[in-house]
Amino acid sequence: MNNYKQVISKILGVVKKHRRFLITGHARPDGDCLGSELALARMLTRMGKSAYIVNYGSVSRELFFMPGVKHVKFYRKGDRLPDNIDVVFIVDSGGLSRLEELEKPIRLMLSADKKPFLVNIDHHPSNGDFGDINWVNAKSSSVGEMIYLLIKQSGTSIDNEMATNLYVSLDTDTGHFCFETTTPMSHLIAADLIENGVRVRDIYKKIYEDKTAGEMGLFVECLRRVKLSLNGRVAWSILTRGMYRKYGATPTDSQNYLSTIRAIEGVKVALLFKETEQNPLQIKVSIRTDRPIDADGLVKALGGGGHHRAAGLTMKTPIKKACQQLINHIKKSAVFT
Ligand code: 5GP
Ligand code: MN
Repeated sequence: MNNYKQVISKILGVVKKHRRFLITGHARPDGDCLGSELALARMLTRMGKSAYIVNYGSVSRELFFMPGVKHVKFYRKGDRLPDNIDVVFIVDSGGLSRLEELEKPIRLMLSADKKPFLVNIDHHPSNGDFGDINWVNAKSSSVGEMIYLLIKQSGTSIDNEMATNLYVSLDTDTGHFCFETTTPMSHLIAADLIENGVRVRDIYKKIYEDKTAGEMGLFVECLRRVKLSLNGRVAWSILTRGMYRKYGATPTDSQNYLSTIRAIEGVKVALLFKETEQNPLQIKVSIRTDRPIDADGLVKALGGGGHHRAAGLTMKTPIKKACQQLINHIKKSAVFT
């Protein structure tokens, strides 16, 4: 952590030498991913560079308010990426596979004769160091914290737009500064962002309130379906396409669903199994754990990953089977002593 200034110097050296930047991050970008991308792009454009943000997969409705989000391109299979990119930044992604459909075109770009320089900025413990420069700090609450340090060291002033986007990064990835990943540094950065014009109440309301009646109905039904397994230490629920249709809604902040499920006394592992809208045989699983259970370790063998207390994976099987399989896997892992 102490040598972060050196890595940042290297990154800024690359920035100074080049003009055309492409920024991306993990599929279905969350608050941290988008906030980091947007603040980084803003720093680059204010330095006179061009920055193109592209992501695969949709953004939840509650993040539409983020300043600059309308300039983010959403990649669809077969789309062309811009030519003559000098530098690619990948943020908040433990590996290139987290880009999903974008992985192939980015790999293609990186294997061309005049291949761009690759900068990897991330806070996932299992990051594969796939860049030409890798700045990976698993102790950072969010990539937003790292982008804040980068912008400060660049000498660019933090404007209101950057501050709002970075605050969304920190707030969403720390669970409003309540997860174990929250440090004095997270609070110091948040304080500076608030000094620079962040309207804390407005952001909270946009992300966690302002729900439609359908979204609330879906949330309540999901909670009603919570089941307990393994002596009450695992709590889990499902979200199906039938439920989305019934309420005319899709989950916006599944983080909130999981925090509520994990709040049941004695629960150490909260699981949410979601059918994806396009394909009912593709189940996105979100996992939240409580000390000392390592969420990342729990799902690694199944091809998932994430952080110590928050991880995810994709299962290609009908939802009922996915639930049984994962609960059996947790049982066999014997993590409860
Ligand atoms: P969420 O449950 O909010 O989608 O994700 C929680 C954490 O797990 C995030 O930090 C994310 O990077 C990671 N994660 C989510 N889905 C996947 C996945 O399919 N594969 C891997 N390796 N990590 C995931
Ligand atoms: Mn993150």
